Amino acid sequence: MKSLAAVVRTPKTPFVLETVDLPEPGPREVLVRVVGVGVCHTDLASRDGLLGAPFPAIFGHEGAGVVEAIGSAVTKLAVGDHVVLAPASDGTCHQCETGAPMYCDHFNALNFQTDPDGPRARLDDGAQAYLKYFGQSSFGQYALAGERNAVKVRKDVPLHLLGPLGCGIQTGAGTVMNGMRPRAGSTIMILGTGAVGLAALLGAVVCGCATIIAVDRVDSRLELARSLGATHGINTTGLTDLGAAVREIVPQGVDYIVDAAGAPGLIQAALAGLGRLGMLGLVAVPPTADRSLELPWFPMLLAGQSVRGFVEGDSVPDIFIPQMIELYRQGRFPFDRLIKAYPFDQINAAIADQLAGQTIKAVLEIGAPA
Ligand SMILES: [Zn+2]
Ligand SMILES: [Zn+2]
Repeated sequence: MKSLAAVVRTPKTPFVLETVDLPEPGPREVLVRVVGVGVCHTDLASRDGLLGAPFPAIFGHEGAGVVEAIGSAVTKLAVGDHVVLAPASDGTCHQCETGAPMYCDHFNALNFQTDPDGPRARLDDGAQAYLKYFGQSSFGQYALAGERNAVKVRKDVPLHLLGPLGCGIQTGAGTVMNGMRPRAGSTIMILGTGAVGLAALLGAVVCGCATIIAVDRVDSRLELARSLGATHGINTTGLTDLGAAVREIVPQGVDYIVDAAGAPGLIQAALAGLGRLGMLGLVAVPPTADRSLELPWFPMLLAGQSVRGFVEGDSVPDIFIPQMIELYRQGRFPFDRLIKAYPFDQINAAIADQLAGQTIKAVLEIGAPA
């Protein structure tokens, strides 16, 4: 199957659109005609060789499209189904069996192209590009996905916008809605108002949080956060005591902190604004993989506070992605306001805009929805 795909041949080089030849779907795979695909930070870290991806590679892991062909053993999906592609999991390990597939024992192997026998796409000059990035490699006209990580969605919503529900949006919203599950009326602070932080904010609104504090360095982002439901914004530019600023708003400290910024100093400062029995959720990746976080040991113990990591918003994609779509249809989850669409051949410009903060979440439009 010929497909136009964004290929990265060597680390730290721009994406180049090339015609590639995809293998037929395996027994438990589906071939998806990609309609739209989001650009996530992880794609860029992989492009730059920071996550150990083999090269050449085809990345892309927020794909949405139409099932074009199915493998011989596929039962979940049929040709013509609309799908959102989510991270892959094996379905058989302890975590998968107990409803936590985003902590799958084989998460890295299934999502970061480390399988030496995995499927490859043939390039024009005979070279082979690694596929199945996050079980999909959806920066292309066609993607090979696992049956398990392709989530069937209803057809009366704009398919080209749905891809980010499979990673960035579910990561933020799911951390709050599936992981923290704040009671209605509780208080939450969100560090960083990129796509993940703003999705966490949308989740906090859905959960009925009474006080939602957005923290960022850019006023326009804080304004956007307010328009999406933040009750307060704190600009940290020139701010010396974030904890005090938080306690001016919530004197007892907030119940939850979602870190969607990945700045160690900011997390440290924010902890001073965490209330008793409060939880800090680590969502953004640290600046380097070996970075440690220093915690106020005794004060945290006395306050009964906890720190937890969250991957992909604790999502069970087959359940959570349709839930987000239903809330979106009702006008209660306007994730589309975070998205700006670009033509596929503008992939490098879209990335530049996203890195510059001009675009919160870029989506590449690749094919027609019908
Ligand atoms: Zn598993
Ligand atoms: Zn992602």
